[in-house]
Amino acid sequence: MSELFGDLKLDPSIIEGIESLGFEKMTPVQAGTIPPALDGKNIIACAQTGTGKTAAYLLPLFQHILETKRTGHSCLIIVPTRELAVQIDQQVVGLGYFTGISSFPIYGGSDSENFSAQKKALDNKSEIIIATPGRLIMLMKLGRANFDSINHFVLDEADKMLEMGFIDDITFIEKQLPRKKQTMMFSATMPPKIRELAKRILNEPVEVNIAVSKLAGGISEDFYLVGDGGKIKLLEYLLTKKEDVESMIIFTGRKDSADQITRNLRKRGIKATTLHSGKEQVEREKTLQEFKNKKIRILVATNVVSRGIDIEGISHVLNYDVPQDPEDYIHRAGRTARAERKGKAITFVNIEEQKNIVKLERLNKKKTEFKDLPKELREYGIQWQQRKPKNFNRNRNKNFRRRPKRNR
Ligand code: AMP
Repeated sequence: MSELFGDLKLDPSIIEGIESLGFEKMTPVQAGTIPPALDGKNIIACAQTGTGKTAAYLLPLFQHILETKRTGHSCLIIVPTRELAVQIDQQVVGLGYFTGISSFPIYGGSDSENFSAQKKALDNKSEIIIATPGRLIMLMKLGRANFDSINHFVLDEADKMLEMGFIDDITFIEKQLPRKKQTMMFSATMPPKIRELAKRILNEPVEVNIAVSKLAGGISEDFYLVGDGGKIKLLEYLLTKKEDVESMIIFTGRKDSADQITRNLRKRGIKATTLHSGKEQVEREKTLQEFKNKKIRILVATNVVSRGIDIEGISHVLNYDVPQDPEDYIHRAGRTARAERKGKAITFVNIEEQKNIVKLERLNKKKTEFKDLPKELREYGIQWQQRKPKNFNRNRNKNFRRRPKRNR
């Protein structure tokens, strides 16, 4: 399989965009996806963010648009979050700069100006529409979206959409589109429900499978066993005395806890900003932009930004708590070390969260090594107490009973 963009039959204006972004060769998901997608095949690809999956579907879409020379909406990309919609829109601008192709993001929010702009966008002739399901359906029901001309349909982060309860919406949207079209589905994981959806909407897809649920090579990991009372102190210690932080995302599972961490850091004289779904859309975008531009060094966020968001130069990700789903750990940690850079993921583990570490160990097939707390914070240290699985003894006894004596 060739890794060179030059070996693909792409329009020179597309190649110009690729070169201007400095991409030298295709990433594995691009090498697997682009050739069949250029042939018009349906695709199901198992790929995490950070693997180059956006370009894997945008480049063939550009080529199809340029070949058909049609104006009007021809590609519909559905994504789970507003942030991802905006980010893909920006990638269209960057990668497609020399092609003249335009896109428009459509997402929910309380901003009425935004809503009228989106209604108008569906009247205009952007070739690519990038939408979150809820807002798109609202516009469809208002009769503001005519998608008879769509011939390419992309579902990005399908597993996240499933998790957010968008599956019925996706089915609804898909039914409104012309039957004859190319469909491409991207998902970081392939749970049975995603496979079912794929079966329903993808006819004879080409499967592209690259390593799933693995941390990028450039990420180093530190784990600390620390009680809740010591977490903020340890964070302060790491930020002021130990780590050389260019920029950091601190993840926590809950909005109120994100607000509290930010307040506590500020009390300690450390500037930090919160980003979660409780904030107004305009504020969220501003925060994200400032974080991208390095005006904000420390962002305290919930899972809103754990997937899909691509920001370069994040040196550290800190899990203030351990996510229940180990895949979320991989996504959070994957915000650092983008595009083959180096980065560090630090995780604080209290007693209750130890069971989540056990799940992570199962996924990673790797035992967790914990770092010692600094001397002045030793009193907050806790022991590894993870209980044995519930049926551990019972199963063991059963096995003993079943086994013939000589094998004991
Ligand atoms: P994605 O998985 O689409 O979020 O992409 C992750 C990052 O990789 C983005 O910053 C892309 O600009 C970058 N990228 C995508 N394709 C390539 C490539 N072939 N070479 C280098 N960087 C790439």
